[in-house]
Amino acid sequence: MIVFLDFDGVLHPFHRPAGVFTLLAEFERVMRDYADVDIVISSTWREAHPLPQLRALFSPDIRDRIIDVTPIASGLHHPFVREAEIRMWLREAGRAAEQWVAIDDTAWFFSPDCPNLILVDTETGFNLTTERELRRRLSASSFA
Ligand SMILES: [Mg+2]
Repeated sequence: MIVFLDFDGVLHPFHRPAGVFTLLAEFERVMRDYADVDIVISSTWREAHPLPQLRALFSPDIRDRIIDVTPIASGLHHPFVREAEIRMWLREAGRAAEQWVAIDDTAWFFSPDCPNLILVDTETGFNLTTERELRRRLSASSFA
């Protein structure tokens, strides 16, 4: 199981009323209950910051589970660009058959009704609804 993680609108409300990564602890708390799940960063932050810098934003135990960033599909005129980048990553990593979820606040980055998307309210970021949905998906995968 792989979690593809967006930052803006997920780890903080999109408009950042209290700064950035204000909800990081909520995300990390859930992930600690699913220790075998890998994390890949799909946020546009990956375009400005190398992977070690992105990892350093997280707590040490979670940092170790951030295995990569998705490729940047420049020149790929795909309407569902983030889903396309995720599928590129899955193919390149040889993990195309694996279960995955994307936590993201931008629906149009994904195909309509993409079953892998956990859509987050951009105004609140990661909230209890997100947590419940994420736990439901991760729990289901561990029994698959
Ligand atoms: Mg976002």
